Parts: sequence; structure tokens; C-alpha cells
Amino acid sequence: MRKTEPSVFSGLHHLETKNLSIYKFPLFSNKKGLIHGISTRQGGVSRAAYRSLNLSYKVGDEPKNVEENRRRLVRALSLDEERLVQSQQVHKAEVAVLPVQDCAAQRPPRAVSGVDALITRTCGPVPLLLGADCPLILLYDEAIPAIALIHASWRGLLEGIILKTLQTWEAAFGSRRERILAGISPSIGPCCYEVGEDFARAWEKSDFYASKFFIRRQGRLFFDLWQASEAQLLSVGLLPQNIYNPRVCTACNHRFFYSYRRSGGVTGRFGLLAALRE
Ligand SMILES: [Zn+2]
Repeated sequence: MRKTEPSVFSGLHHLETKNLSIYKFPLFSNKKGLIHGISTRQGGVSRAAYRSLNLSYKVGDEPKNVEENRRRLVRALSLDEERLVQSQQVHKAEVAVLPVQDCAAQRPPRAVSGVDALITRTCGPVPLLLGADCPLILLYDEAIPAIALIHASWRGLLEGIILKTLQTWEAAFGSRRERILAGISPSIGPCCYEVGEDFARAWEKSDFYASKFFIRRQGRLFFDLWQASEAQLLSVGLLPQNIYNPRVCTACNHRFFYSYRRSGGVTGRFGLLAALRE
């Protein structure tokens, strides 16, 4: 671990390999059927505002740098870059189940447009979600086995993306919610996520609203995305002991994670990726 790394990351497991710094959720540490990782800014080739392991082609970075960064990340986890499947996130609550396929013979689709959550129970695809403040959530049911990756933007949460993901998952191949484990990535905390009154009014109309998500400090309003994500996971039937939230703020720790807010909008994206082992 780098000496400069804040101690608040200590709950997350850390893998430093090939100059990359990758975090893992501790509640999956003994799960042999699952490979996953949360990338940081470290170990890539991108420069300036995108320094250095930017994974997004859509933020103004050089495509060849993004390609190299993605290659480094998947190789660090001993995965195949040809199997990456990215959801082309739109900050909504649409969900896609990746088709069941012959893991060895077929290539998965490279991208799925218009969705913010990907579900799979097949070992072929390596779903990748990108973030720079929004929580990225990994769900895992070892018994099926199956995984879901959710980009939990405030708008997605407002529209019930976690409930929709669970409903889609169950319609596809059943599940027992009390069996599902969930990890929430570093994301912007209530320390830094200032919002406006319009934002609060939009939430007040939602089924997923709770006053505890909003914090007033010195006349300013802040939103707790961490608690909103956890509350939805609990409300759909996950057990508290099966939810891991490291409460690492991307804006406070912008030297390690990309933060859209902290950067003023021009920055890269880190990623959550996961795969089921053959
Ligand atoms: Zn913060």
C-alpha cells in the first residue's frame, strides 16, 4: 500500500500489481467463483485531467490511452479484455440481462446501450461500470451463481434502480434476496455532495425518499448517496450484514479516485468490473 493512501481505505482489500492499485470488497474475499476489482487513478497512461488510469472513451481523453488503460486493468485481474462488456450508462434505471452463452466459444457484446445495470450468470462476459462520484454496486449470489453491477446515480436511485435490478434478476433466473451479498464502491459522500432545493423536491415525490438522506449544514443542503443506496438494498430484502459500504468519498480522495464534482467536470472515470469464474 502506498504510504500516502488514507487509512479510511483500510476496510477495502488492496491489490497492488503491475503499478496498478486495485481495491476489492472484503465480503467477497473467500468467494472463489468471483473475480472483481475497483480501479483507481493509478497505473495508467492518461495525462493531465485524466491522469492516469481513465477508463472512459467519452470524456475527451485519447482513445489509445483508454485502450491501454483498460488492457492493463483486465490483465492485472487475469481477465480477457475481449470479454469486457460496458453498459453505456445514462443515469436512469434500465437493466439488462446478458445472454447465457458458451463461455469459451462466444464473445459477449462489447457494450449495451441505455442501461445502468448489467446482470449475468454466465462466465463469458466481464461487465464493467464506470464512475466518478456515483456509487457502483456489485451484487453476488453464490448459489446460482450470478452477479449484477449497478450504476447507482441519484436519478437511478430515485427511479428505483436497485429494485428494478432485483426484479429483472428474479424474472430471469430466480434468487433469494437474503442470500445476496452487496458491495458499494467509493463514491461521493455527504461531506461533499451539495445539492439544490429542486433536487430535494424531486426526491420528496419519490417512493424511495427518506428525510435522513438530506443533511443541512450552515444553510447548505447535502445528500447522502451512501445511505440512499444502502436503504434501497435493505428495502428490497438484503440483510444488513450482507451489505458492505466502505464510505470512502471520491471527492475527498480525488487523488486516488476520479471525482466529477471535485474536478469541476473534466476528469476521467474509474471502474468496477466483475466476472464469474469458469
Ligand atoms: Zn467528501
